Amino acid sequence: MRRALDEARVAFEAGEIPVGAVVLDASGEIIGTGHNDRERTADPTGHAEIVAMRRAASALGTWRLSGCTLVVTLEPCTMCAGAAVQARLDRLVYGAVDLKAGAVGSLWDVVRDRRLNHRPEVVAEVMAPECAALLSEFFTHRRVR
Ligand SMILES: [Zn+2]
Repeated sequence: MRRALDEARVAFEAGEIPVGAVVLDASGEIIGTGHNDRERTADPTGHAEIVAMRRAASALGTWRLSGCTLVVTLEPCTMCAGAAVQARLDRLVYGAVDLKAGAVGSLWDVVRDRRLNHRPEVVAEVMAPECAALLSEFFTHRRVR
């Protein structure tokens, strides 16, 4: 989560909403990192999780991220939660809860829907205060500007 927070800080410095993510393989090695880059890339799918999963898949040479863990500083949205299921991730670890758009327990629970045949294990609210503080700092600054 510390490495994901580093990524979130990179986004913060770039004026992007500070969310960071990393993907670890089965041995715990980081195989993909990403931060929110929607503004820079003008890409609606430029969320930290998508960027990190794309890099991890490209590093492994397969779309299938079985055995891997996604660590992200904010509870994933519906798109990212859906992508985590599609990637067959084993585990999803997130920091701050997103009451307004979270799809891993808050508004929806996409990854633990019993109708799906793949359901990643979820570990919620890891270093949540640190992850949330970066986001509130960002939005406070933006309101002032
Ligand atoms: Zn997302």
